[in-house]
Amino acid sequence: MFAADLQTAFSHLRGLIEDASAIVPFTGAGISTECGIPDFRSPGGLWTKNQPIPFDAFMASAAMRDEAWRRRFVMEDNFAKARPGRGHRALASLYRAGKVPALITQNIDNLHQVSGITPEDVVELHGNTTYALCLECNHRYELPWVRERFAAAGERAPDCDCGGYIKTATVSFGQSMPAAAMQRAEQLARNCDLFLAIGSSLVVWPAAGFPVMAKREGAALVIINREPTEFDDIADLVVHHDIGDVLAPFIAH
Ligand SMILES: [Zn+2]
Repeated sequence: MFAADLQTAFSHLRGLIEDASAIVPFTGAGISTECGIPDFRSPGGLWTKNQPIPFDAFMASAAMRDEAWRRRFVMEDNFAKARPGRGHRALASLYRAGKVPALITQNIDNLHQVSGITPEDVVELHGNTTYALCLECNHRYELPWVRERFAAAGERAPDCDCGGYIKTATVSFGQSMPAAAMQRAEQLARNCDLFLAIGSSLVVWPAAGFPVMAKREGAALVIINREPTEFDDIADLVVHHDIGDVLAPFIAH
């Protein structure tokens, strides 16, 4: 059903949440916009001016790695200041109540972890931009360390002691999807009884596959997004309202 107003959305959502024992939220950029993190892919978004460097270009030249880091530090003000929003806090409340075994996200902003969900229970399909990894030995580097080296070297990206390149822990365009995260996400989608798609346009692969997967295995499907998605027709509840407004009543105090 389509919720015409917030009150209808809230009462139906509350019923579905009360009836469910394994809720799997799937979140996209829309849950973080109220936290000051723009939807980078949207028209006029940061990525139209500061496009991320594709993976093969990053690997191919030192100049591109320098540029990738320069662009990452331009966005640091947004990421460093961001705090979990009402949507994050509501989902963390459901997690603490034992209703949510784990959460799947397309976001790279670390806000679900900051909201109190154990990192192991946040399945990140596109990685995480708040720290960096060596692409060879997988050693973890913190961003302030990278930034200091970058600045000290005259805006040159530092390499790992092993000689490997250091890159944010995100999945870049052209980089393969993390297999373990994909597998876990699929398993979660297949074994939940309520799938909540929140703030995702559900067009980017693999996001588009999960709602159908959950629905096919008998889960109820709820879609909360500002704009319509192509899965609205198969959803049990569709809400086109502000995510924070819709989820705020589920924050446990
Ligand atoms: Zn290394």
